[in-house]
Amino acid sequence: MKMPKAAKKYCARCKKHTDHKVSIYKKGKDRKMAVSKRRYDRKKAGYGSQPKPIQHNQCKVNKKTTPLFKCKECGHGTYGAGLRLKKFELVNQ
Ligand SMILES: [Zn+2]
Repeated sequence: MKMPKAAKKYCARCKKHTDHKVSIYKKGKDRKMAVSKRRYDRKKAGYGSQPKPIQHNQCKVNKKTTPLFKCKECGHGTYGAGLRLKKFELVNQ
């Protein structure tokens, strides 16, 4: 799918339609000292089983791609709907 790099969308902060910059959302780096990570490491340490199941047989073919819309006036960002696509392209228009 091809999506234009710029879009006109409603901005909740500006309370009007403004130009938005479109980009693809990417997951940030996991924090090593987060509570859940520390708890998981504590459970995983030493002998014993895996505390959470690891999924091996995925039935979905494609991962979801989420477009991120950023207001050019105030910088407020909103997420678009996640799409299962083989190819997601941002094009100039
Ligand atoms: Zn705005």
